[in-house]
Amino acid sequence: MATFKILCTPGDGIGTEVIAEALKVLARVEKRFKHEFQFDEEIIGGAAIDKYGEALRSKTIAKAKASDAVLFGAVGGPKWDNPKAKVRPEDAILGMRKQLGLFANLRPVKIHPLMLADSTLRREVVEGTDMVVIRELTGGLYFGRPQKRWEDSRGRQAVDTLRYSEKEITRICHVGFKLAQQRRKKLTSVDKANVLRTGQLWREIATEVGKQYPDIQLDHLLVDAAAMNLIRKPTSFDVIVTENMFGDILTDEAAMLAGSMGMMPSASLGKRKKDGTGIGLYEPIHGSAPDIAGQGKANPLAMILSAAMMLRLSLGLEAEAACIEGAVDAVIVAGYRTPDIAGTGSSVVDTVKMGDLVAEAV
Ligand code: NAD
Repeated sequence: MATFKILCTPGDGIGTEVIAEALKVLARVEKRFKHEFQFDEEIIGGAAIDKYGEALRSKTIAKAKASDAVLFGAVGGPKWDNPKAKVRPEDAILGMRKQLGLFANLRPVKIHPLMLADSTLRREVVEGTDMVVIRELTGGLYFGRPQKRWEDSRGRQAVDTLRYSEKEITRICHVGFKLAQQRRKKLTSVDKANVLRTGQLWREIATEVGKQYPDIQLDHLLVDAAAMNLIRKPTSFDVIVTENMFGDILTDEAAMLAGSMGMMPSASLGKRKKDGTGIGLYEPIHGSAPDIAGQGKANPLAMILSAAMMLRLSLGLEAEAACIEGAVDAVIVAGYRTPDIAGTGSSVVDTVKMGDLVAEAV
């Protein structure tokens, strides 16, 4: 019997609701495939600020480092929204990524044929969309220094720094090429090489790394063209790799192709072992959704599909991951929907019922 350690950090709002459903599904997987999942739970985000005065305790980081994977709900809410506050719920996710060395964020975007009507784009544009967007997570504008605000005789001023090293670009490009090898063998590297020095370096290194992957078709695209093509012809993409801020924006744009935030899982990965596994953090792309928290309206499928990614990418359990994805598919085909994805003729269910249905289908 294989044993795995999983740290759960539900966080705030619907984070706690959707994680409960993912755990229900994992319990079924554990039983069916005869594994042992050792779950531990830690309070993070706004809830941790209330209880401990900080969003992410060092004890939580230590537990995460000793685990095979972290299942992360969502953090934040109006109660902790003061931008001038010394501690903010978001410190939990940024701190976790940094401390665990998670430099690659993977967001698969795939549209279920029965949910084509949920996209804001026309059916013929989105039909067949199946891509993974990889965002660099630990470099670029969010971490470059100097980063500050000040005031002088010319008024209020601010500076952020966009810096990338060869090492940072090289390692994320390898993630992109390796993933493309497991898929349709096409990688699009997105930069702003016509204006930014970091963009020129990015393109140069992506091209160099590409020489090690002759089986992959590498294309370069400027970020503005990428933003346009994502909604013009999303089926032209297989794997996209890009820097931190471009990735932040493009991943949300790509996610919306599929209609609801409640359907979109993600994985944040660091260094991999020889067998391709390694610690990772798995979370839905949505936030804590205070507008629907506590009402049973949250769609738990993004969290459940994130748990499937965890099984595949951190625990090396491919069949078990595919089993969860198949169960989600079966529930959608059977016509069950949470309110965010409800269409005509579907059976609308609440968060708990949706979790029950997927667990039963496992
Ligand atoms: P949000 O993703 O929480 O919600 C956006 C909209 O999508 C809302 O209308 C919400 O009801 C809906 N929605 C989101 N997830 C859903 C689900 N699973 N099922 C059904 N509907 C869903 O974004 P927001 O409202 O901009 O932010 C709310 C809080 O979450 C803020 O404090 C923000 O900082 C935080 N946030 C946290 C994370 C994270 O923890 N990684 C990510 C994004 C936002």
